[in-house]
Amino acid sequence: MPTDKTAPTEITGAKKSRAATLTRKTADRAPAKAVSAKARSKSSLKADLAPERIAAILKILAKAYPHAKCALQHHSAWELLVATILSAQCTDARVNIVTPSLFRKFPTPADFAAAALPEIEAEVRSTGFFRNKAKSISGAAKLLLSAFHGEVPRKMEDLLTLPGVARKTANVVLGVAYKEAVGVVVDTHVLRLSRRLGLTRNTAPEKVEQDLMKTIPQDHWIAFSHEMIHHGRENCIARKPRCADCPLEPLCNSPDKTWSTH
Ligand code: SF4
Repeated sequence: MPTDKTAPTEITGAKKSRAATLTRKTADRAPAKAVSAKARSKSSLKADLAPERIAAILKILAKAYPHAKCALQHHSAWELLVATILSAQCTDARVNIVTPSLFRKFPTPADFAAAALPEIEAEVRSTGFFRNKAKSISGAAKLLLSAFHGEVPRKMEDLLTLPGVARKTANVVLGVAYKEAVGVVVDTHVLRLSRRLGLTRNTAPEKVEQDLMKTIPQDHWIAFSHEMIHHGRENCIARKPRCADCPLEPLCNSPDKTWSTH
């Protein structure tokens, strides 16, 4: 989930076909309008953050992605923590390929703590930045054993003491494994969509999270992140968002829009 790489730009046959379908749909529905500066000028922070607009966005997202959940496979808070560390600059799909054999080889934090770094590195090499990731996982396992009775802590401040863990990873673990809405997961998708939807004007993930925590009701924080990540992967993609197929389009004034009804 987490900070995924932008999807490969290579156009596969399936993508070509989807693009062709979209082009047909777009042509059928209405001509594209220029949306850049004009659209942005319509947008004001106050209007963007109006409670009724936020409620409408949340309702549309919930309807569009009723089963949205964390895509990282895991069986415990520890496995989720490791998977989330590995997901930095890597796709969840790649992490899900790596983790089954990783957790077979090192079933517990104690096994990771006892392993030599090269052993862990060899297992996680294909996720990229493997030396740093192996070091973080090994360090986190050792700290769990020495300071937290071998358990992944349930408090944000404790999680942030673990190597390789910043707020995004901590929020994933707290929200998904412990169902604790302490913050909002801000990965590359949440950040991009939040800006496109006018929910923040910031670019630093920590500031975007603070903005979202002020705007989104706390009981939506966990689901909101999952839904935004799904929407970012499936629809509001980085390079050419599929605005003609987007249920949020009537509420979106992003200059990045590729199609607009308003
Ligand atoms: S209308 Fe386009 S830019 Fe706006 S949220 Fe939808 S896909 Fe993203």
